[in-house]
Amino acid sequence: GPDNIITKRQEYFFPATAHFYKDPPQIVGGSMQYLFDHNDKKYVDFFAGVSVMNCGHSNPEILEDTIKQLNNIQHTTTVYLTQPMVELAQKLAEVLPGDIKRTFFCVTGSEANEGAMALARLYTKKNGFIALTGGLHGRTHLTLSVTGIPMWRLDDHLVKENIFFIERPYSADLSYEEAMEKSLQQLDAVLKTHGNNICAMLVEPIQGNGGIIMYPRDYLKKVKTLLEAHDVLLIVDEVQTGYGRTGKMFCIEHYDVVPDIIVTAKALGNGIPISTFSTTDEIAKAYSRPSASTFGGNPVAAQTALSVLHYIEKNNLVEKSNELGKYLKQKLEQISSPFIHEIRGCGLMLGMQIQSQNQSVTSAEITDMILEEMKNRGFIIGKNGLNRDVVAFQPPLVISKGDIDTMTANLQEVLKQIV
Ligand code: PMP
Repeated sequence: GPDNIITKRQEYFFPATAHFYKDPPQIVGGSMQYLFDHNDKKYVDFFAGVSVMNCGHSNPEILEDTIKQLNNIQHTTTVYLTQPMVELAQKLAEVLPGDIKRTFFCVTGSEANEGAMALARLYTKKNGFIALTGGLHGRTHLTLSVTGIPMWRLDDHLVKENIFFIERPYSADLSYEEAMEKSLQQLDAVLKTHGNNICAMLVEPIQGNGGIIMYPRDYLKKVKTLLEAHDVLLIVDEVQTGYGRTGKMFCIEHYDVVPDIIVTAKALGNGIPISTFSTTDEIAKAYSRPSASTFGGNPVAAQTALSVLHYIEKNNLVEKSNELGKYLKQKLEQISSPFIHEIRGCGLMLGMQIQSQNQSVTSAEITDMILEEMKNRGFIIGKNGLNRDVVAFQPPLVISKGDIDTMTANLQEVLKQIV
C-alpha cells in the first residue's frame, strides 16, 4: 500500500529527494491526459511529468512503434549504426530552426547541456560561460555550476572561475523594459571585461524551474548581437520548452533568433529517455574526436522519438498547444482571488504567481495548499519558482477544453477556500 512506499522512501532514498505533496499519490497507470493511483482514483494531469508527456501517457499509437522496436533490436551502441538513430537525426535537421543540422544523441537534459558546453569550448577555444539568474541547466558538475537557482546548487562544490551570472530580464520591482535594459547592460559589461575567456551563454527561452519566466520579445535578439561581437556562442536549452510545449515547435521561434547550439530532451522521447544537442555544419566540425554515449540514440528511444515527431505533426499538437494555451490562460485570468499576482507564459507552459496577503503564511505555503487540495479533487498541477510559489500548468498537449474547464472551476473554488 501507499504507507509502505512512503516508509520505504524515507528509509532508502537520500534525504535530498524532493517530492510534491505531504502524501504523494502512488501512480500506477496513465492514459493520455489521465493518471490513476493504486485506489483507482483518476487525475487529470496538468504537469506531464515536468513537461515530458507532451503526447500523453502510454499513447497507444506511439507505444505500438516502441514495442515493435523492443521486439526487433533493443540496443547496439553507435559502434553499429541503427536505422532509427540515423532517421531521427535527419528528421531533427528538418524541424530544428535555421541551418542547424547535425545532432549528437545523449540520454538526459543535463548530459546534453554538458555536451553542448564541451562543443562550445572546442569551437571557440575559450572556456568561460555566461548564464542567467533563475536558470536551471542540470545536475552534473558544470551544468549545476551555471544553474542560477540557489535551492538546487551545491554552492561550495561548484565551478566558480569563469562562470558569470547576469540578472534575468525579470524582476518584481522593475518593469519588463527596465529589467531588460539592466540585464543587457550587465551582459555588455561582462563581455567587455571577460569576452576573451567566454565561449558561450546558456539560456532557457522560457525559464521553467525559475518560475515560468518569458523574456521581452527582442531580448534574445539583442543578446545574440552582443554575443556575436565577442565571438561568444548562444546555447539555447529547450529541454523543458521543446516539441510544441509553448505553441511553437521550439520556444526560441517566438523570439526570431537562431541559436548556435540547441539542446533538447524530455518531450522528445515522451517518457523514454533521449536528449540531443544540435548545431551547424561549421560548429560541429570542432567536435571531431571519437565520442559517443552508450545509450544515446538507442534504437528504442530513437524509434519512439520518430513516432513522437510524427504524432505531433499528424495531430497538429503545436497549433493545439497554442490555441489551448490561449484558452487556459484566459480561463486562469478569469479566476478572481487576492492570491493571484500574475499569470505568465505561453502555449501550454503557464505559471500563476501566488502572493500571500499576510505575514502568518508564506506564498510557498499557499502554493502547497493549492497543489494538495487540487490533488484531492483529482488534478495534478505543478509548482516552481525561486521561492516555490508559482503554480505551474504544463499538461500533455492532448488535453481537452473540457479538462481545462473542470480544472479551472475547481481551482476557483480552492482559491476561495484559502483564507
Ligand atoms: N534544463 C532544463 C531547462 C530543465 O528543466 C531540466 C530538468 N528539469 C534540465 C535541463 C535537466 O534535465 P535532466 O533532469 O534530464 O538531466
